[in-house]
Amino acid sequence: MTSDLSGDPILIVGSMAFDDLELPTGAARDVVGGSATYAAFAASLLAPTRVVAVVGDDFPNQVLERLGARGIDTSGVERAQGKTFRWAGRYSQNLASRTTLDTQLNVFADFRPKLPESYRTSPVVLLGNIHPALQLEVLAQAKAPRFVAADTMNFWIEGERSALGQVLSRIDALVINDEELRQLAGEHNIARAARAVRALGPKRLIVKRGEYGAMLFDDHGTFFAPAFPLETEIDPTGAGDTFAGALLGHLARAREFGHEAVRRALMFAAAVASFCVEDIGTRRLEQITSDDVTRRLDALHRLIDPPSR
Ligand code: AMP
Repeated sequence: MTSDLSGDPILIVGSMAFDDLELPTGAARDVVGGSATYAAFAASLLAPTRVVAVVGDDFPNQVLERLGARGIDTSGVERAQGKTFRWAGRYSQNLASRTTLDTQLNVFADFRPKLPESYRTSPVVLLGNIHPALQLEVLAQAKAPRFVAADTMNFWIEGERSALGQVLSRIDALVINDEELRQLAGEHNIARAARAVRALGPKRLIVKRGEYGAMLFDDHGTFFAPAFPLETEIDPTGAGDTFAGALLGHLARAREFGHEAVRRALMFAAAVASFCVEDIGTRRLEQITSDDVTRRLDALHRLIDPPSR
């Protein structure tokens, strides 16, 4: 899919990784992943995209070239000496849950994000899933962004509460999955957990619920975007990051951040994220055309368009 680069630029900070995946269909090793990789491919469908991340000397140049071929600016990707971040996970047979088997920070352990001068005025910022202290360092360098969203995961919720609290107080939207929301709020009920987390800062909370869709909680109420009922589900890794990247890409393209724009962006994000699951890693995501996305978005709308009462 080619990018129409007419929107506001979006800055994405996150991980670039090698993932070792145990999937019901078999094991896949050294799959190129990471929160920034998935989010950037998705965001670049609609908006000029800039990435800040770190990779080791083992990371293939070819992947950066593929990002570049999509119009993604990778001048903020630092190549450090050492090994690239590595994550290993095992999925359940029905893909509904996964266990992290291993997280090796490697070059991430000493990473200090440095925004190239040209990145600093990016109006839209996605703080992808990385150490919350690094998310804060990015915010410290960004000049008056119009819309900042953050993602996080259990690893940081368990270990880095205080830095995460500071992130929450400084963002416009938090995008997390339902288990992480429950963990963060210490509350099982989604609606009550959403209220509790919004009280910590983010005005908009977006909860990803895998095959059960996504929910938005904001000052205008609650909104639901369904997940597309896929017949082929291979690898859900990165679907959440794809969702966040597509969501912000849509907002950046529209240059609108009001409640209606966010609801439209949520539907688009649900459509794009569904493709991610259809193949291993970023494979499917890198193939899709704007027609594919439009067709799936139409199908999603039909799912929630009941006959009038
Ligand atoms: P998702 O399936 O959307 O939660 O994203 C999975 C991606 O996040 C994988 O490609 C991993 O490399 C990356 N990832 C896993 N754990 C972490 C972590 N602690 N920090 C940053 N990225 C991570």
